[in-house]
Amino acid sequence: MSVPEPINPPPRLLMGPGPITADPRVLRAMAAPLVGQFDPAMTHAMSETMALYRAVFYTSNEQTFLVDGTSRAGIEASLVSLIEPGDRVLVPVFGRFGHLLVEIAKRCAAEVHTIEVPWGEVFEPELIEAAVARVRPKVLAVVHGDTATTMRQPMSDLGEICRRYDALLYCDATATLGGNSFRTDAWGVDVVTAGLQKCLGGPSGSAPITISPRAVAVIDARKHIEEGIRDADDVERGTPIASNYLDLAQIMDYWGPRRLNHHTEATSMLYAARECARLLVEEGIEHAVARHELHGRAMLAGVTGLGLDVFGDVEHKMNNVVAVRIPDGVPDDKARAAMLADFGIEIGTSFGPLAGRVWRIGTMGYNARTDAVLVTLAALEQVLRGFGVSVTAGGGVAAAKDVYADA
Ligand SMILES: *Cc1c(COP(=O)(O)O)cnc(C)c1O
Repeated sequence: MSVPEPINPPPRLLMGPGPITADPRVLRAMAAPLVGQFDPAMTHAMSETMALYRAVFYTSNEQTFLVDGTSRAGIEASLVSLIEPGDRVLVPVFGRFGHLLVEIAKRCAAEVHTIEVPWGEVFEPELIEAAVARVRPKVLAVVHGDTATTMRQPMSDLGEICRRYDALLYCDATATLGGNSFRTDAWGVDVVTAGLQKCLGGPSGSAPITISPRAVAVIDARKHIEEGIRDADDVERGTPIASNYLDLAQIMDYWGPRRLNHHTEATSMLYAARECARLLVEEGIEHAVARHELHGRAMLAGVTGLGLDVFGDVEHKMNNVVAVRIPDGVPDDKARAAMLADFGIEIGTSFGPLAGRVWRIGTMGYNARTDAVLVTLAALEQVLRGFGVSVTAGGGVAAAKDVYADA
């Protein structure tokens, strides 16, 4: 074969709904030398990572660690480890990622119940409570921020509702963690998972997770340790978890004091996840949330200043992404291609009913920055102009600058 050139990607500003441009400090951390799986330096870095993510998740859960794989690995590990065949699961669906929870829970052979609101809206807690009372699920599985619609579901009442009806609460916080307030313990969320490629400012490939003691008890009641590493006094209990790789009972023993061998921890991704959390804690999590709020507000003002219409209930929008309606007559794919070719900027469309109808523009992680916002708005103006849209000259940048001037 002819050997390809070394990898040399073009410079890009990733302003879509994720993945976003990784913080260069995270990329540098990934280039650190490898150490062995049980080297004290490695286990020390693992313990530090657990402590850092306890701060990020606002939790005192001992079981706070990483699942290797993208965010979906964390989601799937949570559901497959909690759900036994026939268990009832309730999913409030308000976008694509709610459908993903349904799909995964079904593959776990759960009896899945859903409630839905139209895309662009969120649920009143009373609506969720009524469904919990009716279905009496073992697990209520909720997405915090659904990037498909940009909506952020209010979570603070759900833990208390779940406790009253003896349900476990699972939350996919991939899109929101680090850029929107999230309080695992105060909100009573039993299992939370995330990914690095949104507000945490890293590459995809690691899924931080935290698990409450009562969820740990449910998972541990199904512990089956593999033949070959099992001790004589390791009893097999409950229905085995239907995945080996995503078996949280075994993964907890790998991260815990027993250091029982499971997979080989993805060392470079551990470095990345550790650095993402370290940077966040160093900045101050509330400061990072406020930064996402500010730059999200500037982007919202900017697209409005260009004369574009925003999709969905803006009151419930995540800080870090906005969906704008694509103006009539503008070809979605050609316009995004022009953003990429002429300006090196990536923005995204959405899925399903919103595919080709909205653009999603993110201001998250490393890209929740003034220059990234202003440059994107300036480029978007020129691209829209190129497709014959009569946008206010300089209207986007000016409106965003007004927001910054008042901040
Ligand atoms: C982006 C996103 C994911 C992504 O999952 P990956 O496996 O990392 O691609 C999952 N859930 C939500 C809510 C997201 O916004």
